[in-house]
Amino acid sequence: MKKHNFSAGPCILPQEVFQEASEAILDFNNSGLSIMEISHRSAGFVSVMEEARELALELLGLNNKGYKALFLQGGASMQFLMTAYNLLNKKAAYLNTGTWSSKAIKEAELFGEIIEVASSKDQNFNYIPKTFSIPDDADYFHCTSNNTIFGTQMKSFPNTSKSMVCDMSSDIFSRSLDFSKFDLIYAGAQKNMGPAGTTLVVVKEDILGKVDRKIPSMMDYAVHISKDSMFNTPAVYAVYVSLLTLRWIKKNGGIAAMEKRNDEKAELLYAEIDRNPLFKGFAAREDRSPMNATFNITNDSLKDRFDDAWKAAGVNGLNGHRSVGGYRASMYNALPLESVQVVVDVMKELENKA
Ligand code: PMP
Repeated sequence: MKKHNFSAGPCILPQEVFQEASEAILDFNNSGLSIMEISHRSAGFVSVMEEARELALELLGLNNKGYKALFLQGGASMQFLMTAYNLLNKKAAYLNTGTWSSKAIKEAELFGEIIEVASSKDQNFNYIPKTFSIPDDADYFHCTSNNTIFGTQMKSFPNTSKSMVCDMSSDIFSRSLDFSKFDLIYAGAQKNMGPAGTTLVVVKEDILGKVDRKIPSMMDYAVHISKDSMFNTPAVYAVYVSLLTLRWIKKNGGIAAMEKRNDEKAELLYAEIDRNPLFKGFAAREDRSPMNATFNITNDSLKDRFDDAWKAAGVNGLNGHRSVGGYRASMYNALPLESVQVVVDVMKELENKA
């Protein structure tokens, strides 16, 4: 039986994507060859890469606006240093909203002075700082749109004349934003886009070429752009499955439709967290993430019973991250509303039997 998968990432993808992806392992486009055994320079794969790059920009509303999309390797973690390598001359401003922001700061510090404009560390990152100012001499501003571990999401972004760099790993393609506010967006594929192994980078070309240092080829966005994301062998299969997911997003109404479904799921679960006295939300209400809902059980003696009940209901991946404890329900694009209803029913039943 297919599980209700609330994993934080790698995570659920649309079932029809899994189906198509598995078919291409045996026979890609009736070619008599597996997607895994063809050259990344073959016409078949070059068109996969082109379509994936185009479609990523199209879904974000960014084609013909001076942006390039790349599918790179090394995860979002590689982007923590690659962004700084390519953009940081002297000083950059970072908003610290959690573990991933902190890691981005640590890497960028190797390249220049980092000003932490605000941090929510004082409250174990359960909220998003709202008031901060970005120094005039910063080369760019970096933020994390969705904090996967703590379950918070930035609802608005500063209006700044500085380049804005954003780690959207855990909420890309999940909500409508004016993406043209950002100069560089990066996201590991393994949440809303595809399997682990590739990272989407969307970069406005005119922000590049402004640092003094020499950049190794593999770290250089300009090199990857000049080679159409094929400077070295790309993660062929991960890019292919990402393309299938991007097509699925488009076919199902694009980002706006994803957002509507995601809001419905989040409302259903958060309403139960707030109503049921056995549970308490972790993140500040106004900053709650529709992607990752974090919550605790108020009566520890019921924990084992709750854990047994959701597992028996076919639910997977509800345990919180080890640094927060409690529970985390990740509700990415492909998770159906019915799966959320299953968890809500288990929560209600626990209350009725307690
Ligand atoms: N940023 C965010 C917001 C994340 O959720 C993650 C992974 N969960 C990362 C960065 C790190 O991504 P990767 O493992 O692809 O390096």
